[in-house]
Amino acid sequence: MNYTIKNALTTVDNRYLHQDLIISHQQISAIGTDLEPVGTVIDATNKLLLPGFINAHTHSSEMWQRGIMSMYPLELWLAELYDFAPLDLSQVYLSALGTAVETLLSGGTSVVDHLVLIPGKELETIATAVRAYQEVGIRAFIAPLIQDESITAGIPSGNTSQNHEPYFRSTQATLDIIETAVQQFHNPVNGVSILVAPTGIQLCTDALFTGCIELSQKYDLCRHSHLLETKAQEKLAQEKYGCTAVEHLQRIGYLDYRTSLAHCVHLSDRDIEILAATKSTVVHNPLSNLRLGSGIAPILKYRKAGVNISFGCDGASSNDSQDLLEAIKIGSILHNVTDMDYRNWITPYDAVQIAAQGGAIGLNMGNYIGTLDIGKQADLVTYDLTNLSLLPRTDPIGLLVLGRPSLAVDSVWVNGKQVVSHGQVTTIDVDELRQALFNHSQWQTMRQSQTAMELEPHYRFVMGLSN
Ligand SMILES: [Zn+2]
Repeated sequence: MNYTIKNALTTVDNRYLHQDLIISHQQISAIGTDLEPVGTVIDATNKLLLPGFINAHTHSSEMWQRGIMSMYPLELWLAELYDFAPLDLSQVYLSALGTAVETLLSGGTSVVDHLVLIPGKELETIATAVRAYQEVGIRAFIAPLIQDESITAGIPSGNTSQNHEPYFRSTQATLDIIETAVQQFHNPVNGVSILVAPTGIQLCTDALFTGCIELSQKYDLCRHSHLLETKAQEKLAQEKYGCTAVEHLQRIGYLDYRTSLAHCVHLSDRDIEILAATKSTVVHNPLSNLRLGSGIAPILKYRKAGVNISFGCDGASSNDSQDLLEAIKIGSILHNVTDMDYRNWITPYDAVQIAAQGGAIGLNMGNYIGTLDIGKQADLVTYDLTNLSLLPRTDPIGLLVLGRPSLAVDSVWVNGKQVVSHGQVTTIDVDELRQALFNHSQWQTMRQSQTAMELEPHYRFVMGLSN
């Protein structure tokens, strides 16, 4: 299917221009004024046309617990999350659909799902998410979340002796599952990529990291992990390795241009140099870092050091939305309080570039998506500039990033296929999805996580909080 998007507002060198854009054979084939129309003509008068953004870190099944998680820091929050994790594939399916729809309707055309796997149904979980994303038509980067240590190992010992249960599945069995998933589902041309995704140093052995590096090399896969999200993880790295987590990951060869690292809140200046030198990408998840009290990632320092940055919503249990525009806004202006020198602050134009091109580079897709250039895959979004939340007329990108756009996405194309038209998803029935999410849930208030209660005294001791 070919399209001509007529008379859209675009930016060239920070100036606005009215241009036409032609999509043919899934790619952007022409950009200019008064182009001879090809295929379906879309009138984009008073629409802002931007490359699709990348939701560069989330966990789709967390949608089932949004709004109810306790006010806990990550380590205790995780214990609660897993005590109530959904264990049924129909829930995996619905929350992947929901995550995809919310991402599309907030300007995203790609999603990185650090997907929590149902124990014993690992491949089925991945297959279910693949099916959901293909049905919606979003570009999916599925990063099956793996670990090979049990949850208590993620908290520093603080010089006490701690016994951790062995993880229920062997490291090799876990790697075998990922290799099978790659063979079955990794199909980037078709919009589905599998990533190797050890959750992070807090719950993974070197054997697991090394196995992931080997798979990444064998199949040219991207690598995705959490990194130094909390103070506790910073302490744990010192206990485990006698150096920082970044130094250790560099030593074992995990960091490279295909590696994207979520959070990166507690890094040293030396760590930042290592990320720049290895061309690793930092995924900024500002809302989750605020919600869990993890801290403010030093994003302006990363930018100064030349580290590539992208934005993520993180899972809906620590955000608790999947509104990419909200993450972009907070992730930009949050740093105005960390650096007095306003010349270093992130402008709305920078923010759009980080969200689109930064995201693409972090997934080794910089040559294929992330900008409006001829020859790139057509992952595009138009925004309705007559929407009440974007009026009165000033600077469209300023209104989009700094404002609070409400239902402003008009049309979305992914890989040249239109999946949103006039603000409505065209590929699935969103009313049916709403009904299914409603029917599979109930109103709840208080609940108690047994595991969080058990971990809490040790956590408070190690972190220097009174018991
Ligand atoms: Zn995460």
